[in-house]
Amino acid sequence: MTKPTIIELKGVERYYQQGERKLVILNGADFSLRRGEMVALVAPSGTGKSTLLHTAGLLERPDGGDVLIGGKSCGKLSDDARTAIRRNEIGFVYQFHHLLPEFSALENIVVPQMVKGLGRAEATARASQLLDYMQIGNRGQHRPAELSGGEQQRVAIARAVANAPQLLLADEPTGNLDPKTAHYVFDALEALVRQSGLAALIATHNFELANRMDRRVTLADGKVVPL
Ligand code: ADP
Ligand code: MG
Repeated sequence: MTKPTIIELKGVERYYQQGERKLVILNGADFSLRRGEMVALVAPSGTGKSTLLHTAGLLERPDGGDVLIGGKSCGKLSDDARTAIRRNEIGFVYQFHHLLPEFSALENIVVPQMVKGLGRAEATARASQLLDYMQIGNRGQHRPAELSGGEQQRVAIARAVANAPQLLLADEPTGNLDPKTAHYVFDALEALVRQSGLAALIATHNFELANRMDRRVTLADGKVVPL
């Protein structure tokens, strides 16, 4: 049985106006991900990986075409509706962790759950579980500045999946780490994705990691093509 489609990009267009010039980044990009699929996005800097991820993650609106999450068209929804979908269905991991510096690792994972409406006890229990799963259960009380780069990214990944999203989007999540640490962080990320059945699109420059995913795509002339 084919798995359900989690996200679909249909003819997505994205451009930036630079003075007189129109800079075309996405030019009719089509792409879809099914439940449980883990796909690598591998393309040189400046080709539009972040633009694609931000558009897929409803952080930016397409200039043309549409993004469907769970079959639902999101291109023309209100900002509030898009925020709600992002909060419930999508987890995002950046190259830089963007953790709240004044909060502990644990609290960083508790907060988004409480924003969604969960009670503190339940949110804390899930946060602990996720930290254990990322193999940093003993780091929960530390602030981000007291953690290594690899540990910070593990917390960021745990936070991204705290609300049990359907979709994980990661923008060079190990790009800032040394190769060995990148490998370990990716191991944890992969285990989490495989175990939870998330669909994941992960931008990376690391071919070894890309080769461990189910498929690889790249960007060419503003379109998503198989690699
Ligand atoms: P990548 O993530 O693959 O490095 P990006 O999606 O960040 O690529 O950027 C794609 C192109 O769009 C780059 O040439 C970048 O300079 C340009 N770009 C990105 N954001 C903006 C913006 N806000 N205004 C103008 N140009 C932008
Ligand atoms: Mg980028």
